[in-house]
Amino acid sequence: MSAQVYLLEEAEGFSKDLLGGKGFGLVAMRKAGLPVPPAFVITTEACRRYLRTGEVPGLWEEVRAKMAALEGLTGKRFGLGEGNNPPLLVSVRSGAPVSMPGMMDTILNLGLSLQGVAALSRATGNPRFAWDSFRRLLAMYGEVVLGERAEVFEGMLSALKERKGARSDADLTAEDLEELAHAYLAHLEARGTPFPMDPWAQLEGAVLAVFRSWNNPRARVYRRIYGIPEDLGTAVVVQAMVFGNLGEDSGTGVGFTRNPATGEKGLYGEYLRNAQGEDVVAGIRTPEPLDRLKDYAPELYGELLRVAERLEGHFRDMQDFEFTVEKGRLFLLQTRSGKRTAQAAVRIAVEMAEEGLITREEAILRVEANALPGLLRPAVDRERAPRPLLKGLPASPGAAFGHAAFSNEGVERLSAQGLPAILVRPETTPEDITGMYLAKGILTARGGLTSHAAVVARGLGVPAVVGAEALRVFPEEGRAVAEGVEVREGDLLTLDGSTGEVYLGAVPLVEAAGEAYLHKLLAWAEPYRRLGVRANADTPEDARRARELGAEGIGLCRTEHMFFHEERLPWVRRLILAATPEEEDEALQALFRFQKEDFKGILKAMDGLPVTVRLLDPPLHEFLPPLEELRQKAEAGDEEARRLLERAEALREVNPMLGFRGVRLLLLRPGIFRMQLKALLEAAKELKEEGLNPRPEVMVPLVADPKEVERAKALAEELFREYGPIPFGTMVETPRAALLAAEIAPLVDFFSFGTNDLTQMAFGLSRDDAGKFLPRYVEEGLLPFDPTERLDEKGVGRLLRLAVEEGRRANPALKLGLCGEHGGEAGSVRFVADLLDYTSASPFRVLTARLAAAQAGLSSLQPV
Ligand code: PEP
Ligand code: MG
Repeated sequence: MSAQVYLLEEAEGFSKDLLGGKGFGLVAMRKAGLPVPPAFVITTEACRRYLRTGEVPGLWEEVRAKMAALEGLTGKRFGLGEGNNPPLLVSVRSGAPVSMPGMMDTILNLGLSLQGVAALSRATGNPRFAWDSFRRLLAMYGEVVLGERAEVFEGMLSALKERKGARSDADLTAEDLEELAHAYLAHLEARGTPFPMDPWAQLEGAVLAVFRSWNNPRARVYRRIYGIPEDLGTAVVVQAMVFGNLGEDSGTGVGFTRNPATGEKGLYGEYLRNAQGEDVVAGIRTPEPLDRLKDYAPELYGELLRVAERLEGHFRDMQDFEFTVEKGRLFLLQTRSGKRTAQAAVRIAVEMAEEGLITREEAILRVEANALPGLLRPAVDRERAPRPLLKGLPASPGAAFGHAAFSNEGVERLSAQGLPAILVRPETTPEDITGMYLAKGILTARGGLTSHAAVVARGLGVPAVVGAEALRVFPEEGRAVAEGVEVREGDLLTLDGSTGEVYLGAVPLVEAAGEAYLHKLLAWAEPYRRLGVRANADTPEDARRARELGAEGIGLCRTEHMFFHEERLPWVRRLILAATPEEEDEALQALFRFQKEDFKGILKAMDGLPVTVRLLDPPLHEFLPPLEELRQKAEAGDEEARRLLERAEALREVNPMLGFRGVRLLLLRPGIFRMQLKALLEAAKELKEEGLNPRPEVMVPLVADPKEVERAKALAEELFREYGPIPFGTMVETPRAALLAAEIAPLVDFFSFGTNDLTQMAFGLSRDDAGKFLPRYVEEGLLPFDPTERLDEKGVGRLLRLAVEEGRRANPALKLGLCGEHGGEAGSVRFVADLLDYTSASPFRVLTARLAAAQAGLSSLQPV
């Protein structure tokens, strides 16, 4: 039987898989010359054997031998004091190869017994400390090994405090704690799970409990969600206890080698004098900033600075470490890569590369590309924020506060007074565009990440939280209710579209910072990017913003957004109502003039770069007022409303997303097709005459059959004969179009994958309603992530791959792009990086797309 237990000094060079994360970190720290209390690690292999067979032959003999070594190293005896020497106590901790909340974590003070308490009390001259240590052990052991609920012990502690009139634990005396320990012992005895006084029995019980915690239901769920293999097992770390609660020259703290909020280099953290680690977590006393040590313990501070530098030198990343000072001596208990904000992540990566600690390539790979949009926008200052009122989906990043408004008119009223407004709606429809445009933030109760509100908000660059299911909105009554709190028109709200949190009142915001670091990182990343990055934009402002952020053209210009402007809607409605060709013509003429100006603005903003204009996509009734409103007006005698109502009823669809829209509408109302394409061609012609270099492309949405494409192309060619041709393409956003790619490809110059619709149709779910259940699906582990947010590689990705392969084979010159919302999501971008020519993202996600594409390029060069 090979060895399965190792002292830290014996485990150098062993893998994290064998030692677990904690053990691995301790071995590395010790090797780097850092002060670590003596410890041994029981390997994951022993755990796996135990879980397989229910036993581990030879384990306890090995454990005893290593414990004897710990006794030698510390000069103390396990569980028993000798003379004035305190007993050796240990902590027992689980440590899987990947960090995994849900498993057993820690038992402290293990080895203590009634006999040991007496010895500890004698040796330290501090009976209160001894009994305090013992009652903590009893509660932890009682919970983790003997299976009693933590609340039972907490309840007994609270009852005692009440009886003694103690406000906090610190007010309890040695006698009080002794009484509590005896009460715990009696309770455990009475429930048939007596506490073992024998230190060796305690140790065996604790080790087996750690092994078994691998199969906790919580741990299993966690593994399933994160795709962690079931058969890794966990290691167990047994380490000599050091005490931070032995007096004023002792203490415990947490340090970060750089500021985790800003990334600034320098020691950062907190320290609590005369305390054990748990006290910090329990918030019993407020720790002080580490800086304070400079004044009263400058040597310790200096030592911590050196420790921080060594840790970074060794682990080559920002570290979050735990330490204890026992009677002036510093010990490190744990270290790991520290969690950090997006802003800190960028700054740390860039500065570490500049310091030569990591390479530039590593710096590029270390930053989470999806976090970038939040960097350019203000965020809620989490340190000063109260508890949020609500949480919804983070639909459009950035934070904003303003007065609640429940309608376009409400937003307009506030804006006219120079006040910021937050538009609050059950969900948004195209009707709400004015309010959405003027509002500083958008909040909806319904809808998912690709709902109308989310898509439009991202396009406009307005922070938005959607699908806040706990919110009930009553626009007619000018109020909303959430968690029993009523929000009235004019009440202040703050929302953070990067986190989905919504607060009552105006919460302090922090400005975007650190752009210089971000631009440096992107400049390093650029040479590794092969995939083109364009933007989804339908206004000149958006186009300009996207270009500033590095977009190389527009991959999707949704022309319908232009129809919703106030001065145009009446013409769109006249188009819908037209009873004669003359009436239709007049409406189309008016719209033509608007569209031509729109296109000129956008083509100008993107001069020299390709601009893909998609012809009208939504069904016509989207441009009509809600039926209810029309009905009321018609009943009140409004003649126009009566005619609109008639049309609206005729056009009404049960499922408009699958109805008379896209290419179907364009082919059966070819006047609209001709008007839009002509406006585009004419706009380009005029710009060319001004000496510019417009590069328009035209695209038809929602095709499902090659015949549709043939017919659309024939219509386009009528105009190409007059103006000269431009690239002609189709969206691939129905499963059938993907399946028939080989027949469609020869007819077009490009495909653009509309992964919003493609996901909706592949899954058979509605993008507007899925917000109701998809988050729960993900929580329950039924889906690994929300497929409307991140591309589902298995299903939707398969359709995409098939269309790419067969399309390219049938037309080698075919250009391939993606323009669904996934085009700005890092994981999805990495998936398509080798498949497509370009991706197209909302302006604020252009940075994410650029970085993710570079990361993909880099990973294919060198395995990470
Ligand atoms: C799509 O379906 O992915 C797409 C880009 O079009 P829209 O979101 O406008 O339907
Ligand atoms: Mg679509």
